[in-house]
Amino acid sequence: MDFFQNPAILIVMETQSVVTVGFVALGCPKNVVDSEVMLARLGQSGLVLSPDPDHADVVVINTCGFIEPAKEEALEAIRRAIRYKKKGHIRKIVVAGCLSERMGQALSNEIKGIDAIVGLARRDQIAEIVQQVLREPKSKQPDLFLEHEPGGAKDDRGRLLITPAHWAYLRISEGCNRRCSFCTIPAIRGQFQSKPMQMVLDEAKELAANGAVELSLIAQDSNFYGRDLGLKDGLCQLIRELEKIDSLEWIRLMYLYPAGIDDRLLESIAACRKVVHYIDMPIQHINNRILKSMCRADTREHTIELISKIRNCLAGAVLRTTVMVGYPAETDAEFAELLEFIEWARFDALGCFRFSPEPGTAAAGLPGQLPEGIKHQRADAVMSAQQKIAFANMDGRKGKEYRILIDEAGPHGSVGRFYGQAPHIDSVCKLPAATAAPGGFIQANVIGRDGYDLIAEPL
Ligand code: SF4
Repeated sequence: MDFFQNPAILIVMETQSVVTVGFVALGCPKNVVDSEVMLARLGQSGLVLSPDPDHADVVVINTCGFIEPAKEEALEAIRRAIRYKKKGHIRKIVVAGCLSERMGQALSNEIKGIDAIVGLARRDQIAEIVQQVLREPKSKQPDLFLEHEPGGAKDDRGRLLITPAHWAYLRISEGCNRRCSFCTIPAIRGQFQSKPMQMVLDEAKELAANGAVELSLIAQDSNFYGRDLGLKDGLCQLIRELEKIDSLEWIRLMYLYPAGIDDRLLESIAACRKVVHYIDMPIQHINNRILKSMCRADTREHTIELISKIRNCLAGAVLRTTVMVGYPAETDAEFAELLEFIEWARFDALGCFRFSPEPGTAAAGLPGQLPEGIKHQRADAVMSAQQKIAFANMDGRKGKEYRILIDEAGPHGSVGRFYGQAPHIDSVCKLPAATAAPGGFIQANVIGRDGYDLIAEPL
């Protein structure tokens, strides 16, 4: 993601001796928030943010290290920076984020040429770290800014948004108390820690005052919010308070752990006019043996009942999920059960991960690890089944009228989303005519589909 896509946050500074910082933001929305905080700290310290990370005095790479493909992507970004450093285009390389937290000093053994490795707990000192690294002479060993404990829930106010001003992520907590057998996140990000509600509300008000009309609430386990603060129904309370912020129009709940979606939460969503009827709940699998082995708190029976309940309780509910294929010892029959369930559940959007045996996780040591070829075949089968479902669901919207939030507007057309399309991960609505400016809402009629995208005509 490139923060210079947003001209509103282009920084132009005139200084005597300009030191430029390039920034590479990788990873999930939680990491995007960390990147936005770091960008703000760097900009506030007088460093000039450069749109070209290959030609900056310092490049900061905020990495993701949650699964092997994310680690590979991060390592590739580091290697690229090292190539530019060798050519003399970059002076120093600072690696921050989840991969730094996960690998620590081992990262410098894997790749030579990094100047600093910064753990999650030191996010807010990124500007001081960059200045320190710049002052130091060349060294073969990187400086380590690692703490033993991850940072926990921090204050994310005052961010420099990577997202357009009219929508933003609102992180409500850090870490996770669940222990899914395949997941490295609790080891990287630590125990679940809610941000105090007032801090979340102040941040939401700040984002709204700066033009955000849509907030996507994010966490590792969103419906766990507030339990560590002693709040009963913390997420329900939080959305009721967020609803009171005048200029907000859409509040979106991401990463709801299915076993934690109870009647009170569904009733609260139904009662809050601004909370969109969009449920993102990663189920991972449907077979009870696999769910148990994954240490998930869900069962097939509960998941099926929950989906029916959501659809009964929330008018026009749009459902997104994530599944994992190729878990150790997943049999053909267990995979067929998952496929059959996907056909039944008819999710509007679905992401599919291939199991990856991450070092340090329980599932990495399980017997019955499957060949990559089988994982690929199963992932392909899931995605081709889901494509037909998604297309049919989209076709079912033809002739219906929706309120569309405009994301991009040009003389020959606009791009927007209806409430069932989350920013960046879902499809979009294409409007062949010029409409409102980004951040504006219009009413439109769906007239067709282009692949996964809807085509709509303003009314
Ligand atoms: S709920 Fe499970 S998969 Fe999600 S972050 Fe926590 S441990 Fe990982």
